[in-house]
Amino acid sequence: MPVFVEVALPVPLRRNFSYRVKDQQQAGLQIGLRVKVPFGSQQLIGLITAITDSCDLAPHQIKSVTAVLDDAPLLPDSLYKLTLWAARYYFTTQGQMLSQALPVALRKGLEATPQAVVEYHLSPQGRNADPSVLTRAPAQKKLHELLLANPISHDEFITQQLSKAALKALEQKHWIERQEKVLCHDLSWRQQLIMNESPHKLNKQQAVAVSVLTQQQGFHCTLLEGITGSGKTEVYLALLETILQQGKQALILVPEIGLTPQTINRFKRRFEVNVAVIHSGLTDNQRLEAWRQARVGEAAIIIGTRSALFTPMAFPGLIILDEEHDSSFKQQEGVRYHARDLAVMRGHLEDIQVVLGSATPSLETLQNALSGRYHHLELSERAGAAQKVKQGIIDITSQPLKAGMSASLINEMRMHLDAGNQVLLFLNRRGFAPALLCHECGHLHECDRCDAFFTVHQGLNEICCHHCGNQYAIPRQCHQCGSTMLMGHGLGTEQLEQEIVKLFPKYPVVRIDRDTTRRKGSLEQQLQGIHMGKYKILVGTQMLAKGHHFPDVTLVGLLDVDGALFSADFRAPERFGQLYTQVSGRAGRADKPGKVLLQTHQSDNPILRDLLKRGYGEFARSQLKERQQALLPPAWHMVLIRAEAHLAEDADAFLTRTSELLPQDKDFEIIGPIPAPLDRKAGKYRRQLILQAKSRQRLQNEFERVLALIEQIPESKRCRWSIDRDPQDLM
Ligand code: ADP
Ligand code: ZN
Ligand code: ZN
Repeated sequence: MPVFVEVALPVPLRRNFSYRVKDQQQAGLQIGLRVKVPFGSQQLIGLITAITDSCDLAPHQIKSVTAVLDDAPLLPDSLYKLTLWAARYYFTTQGQMLSQALPVALRKGLEATPQAVVEYHLSPQGRNADPSVLTRAPAQKKLHELLLANPISHDEFITQQLSKAALKALEQKHWIERQEKVLCHDLSWRQQLIMNESPHKLNKQQAVAVSVLTQQQGFHCTLLEGITGSGKTEVYLALLETILQQGKQALILVPEIGLTPQTINRFKRRFEVNVAVIHSGLTDNQRLEAWRQARVGEAAIIIGTRSALFTPMAFPGLIILDEEHDSSFKQQEGVRYHARDLAVMRGHLEDIQVVLGSATPSLETLQNALSGRYHHLELSERAGAAQKVKQGIIDITSQPLKAGMSASLINEMRMHLDAGNQVLLFLNRRGFAPALLCHECGHLHECDRCDAFFTVHQGLNEICCHHCGNQYAIPRQCHQCGSTMLMGHGLGTEQLEQEIVKLFPKYPVVRIDRDTTRRKGSLEQQLQGIHMGKYKILVGTQMLAKGHHFPDVTLVGLLDVDGALFSADFRAPERFGQLYTQVSGRAGRADKPGKVLLQTHQSDNPILRDLLKRGYGEFARSQLKERQQALLPPAWHMVLIRAEAHLAEDADAFLTRTSELLPQDKDFEIIGPIPAPLDRKAGKYRRQLILQAKSRQRLQNEFERVLALIEQIPESKRCRWSIDRDPQDLM
């Protein structure tokens, strides 16, 4: 009997593809194995999603599987189901979703479960050989050079796409030797867990949280709402101890690995186990190695960012999402999945606990906690000797400012610095100035490809568009009137740093933003300098706001937050509340009392008042009520369709056709097409359609019904469009 398979491929077509399986390939065939198949003129790697004995295609149309790559399914059943569920939920294909879930090296065809690893190195003969004989064989010469430096594993050989012919030729010359190393897995941590340090004695609230968490069995989702510095990490560690002792693994998701090396080190330090850290700095091979270690159970703890969510575990026990409110958990291009929502689904499928931790929980999670869908634990006091932060508003309306700083802020800074403490200044705009202004005619220089001003980067002598990357040397003359009197307009971190150096010559300054941390290792160095007290004044963007523990920072100043308060986005108040609370939370984390000062032109703004008076917790609860009244998420459910095109009419027409396919009534609202907040970007016009539905199920059904029809709209060919379910911003 002929055998056929359906294969999910990483292509943007909304279906799977059928192939014939040759007789000799049929043994052990299963759903979830990788296969290599012909697709057009290429060979692609995909996953088997079904096995059948018939196929609708005509015999001459059907192609055969080139090779079956695995003898066991790549993903455990739970993760396979998770990708299926996610593909449906995010209105994408199984192929696209699976390729999110797999490390690049596996998508390129590397082995998932090697019994042994093969390594190539030079023989003594190869080491002493004269490479000049290879001048006519560049591939062999390159391979020889690489091997002179280091042996190469077979995996590296494949991912670096080195020449197989060159390898063969050098082997025939007896210049290369192969060595096979048998792999055995060290699972001893499951028998006996060794602790490398003894934990803090938990305070009462921590102890309550830990005892609740350790008693839960099976799937439970818990929000751990603990103010900054309340010792959430300590709670995670105590829970981890119990989980590891049961011989189970834990997956810990964090917003950005590079930003919080100390937290990562706390996890590494406490237990004598193998910790796999998965981050964007890894090579494809290192990432695959971490994946393999997690999959066989050798790595007891897996720490990673968003995409690590899909790492398989042999003995799943726990998923923790730290700083669960952080928007980096939502992927902003391609498949726009939310790692938090998928983590909860994964916990459900694997029947394990999920802990979402934050000082400033998202309204989505808060609603689930308040409605009883999630458990809710609170830590309302700072751990150890740390006290709550004092806060103050400085109304800067018509006050003289020095580089954006008022006299009262400068005085306060001086007091804290003279007392030997550190001061942190927050300004969420990198560069020298956010615009280039002509002093004679008032012209502001705008990016030619976007509706946005150029940012001035004085150190680089450049003006640069932060939306499309467009950059030029700083012009000498105004583009409009030819005047040479050009000046930066507004304040960025680069300028702030320069001014502070002049104002406080005695106190060394460090600036932390995307520009100063571009070089590998530079952020770590700067953070270390802060901890050692080398720097006294810390200037930075939101990179400085996230999760850091700087014991000597006693004063935090927020220079200019008015923009953040006035954004049109419906999430703006929530985001502002989170940012303000997180930034202020960097002050007074140890035994010295902390203070935060916020400069604003809007000292009467009700949102600001509410936040400062009642704190994030109460503020967020009242925001949630407002969202309910406005029929916005999380009360209602939202899908955003974006379209961009060279001609605005094409994008508009596509979205209008789309809206005509969907219902409109009191439970299903359509807004648009409207221009995106950044109307033109990189030369393209951007339009959007917003759908808000009362019922999640109805939204799902209506959309599934029309997806195929949307794709057939003729204008869809003339724009780039995408579907964003549960959008995090309307940009
Ligand atoms: P969070 O993650 O909530 O911001 P951390 O877990 O980082 O807080 O704790 C903040 C600081 O307090 C850390 O330096 C930590 O070592 C310390 N800490 C936490 N729990 C305790 C405790 N029970 N006793 C003493 N110090 C503690
Ligand atoms: Zn001018
Ligand atoms: Zn631009």
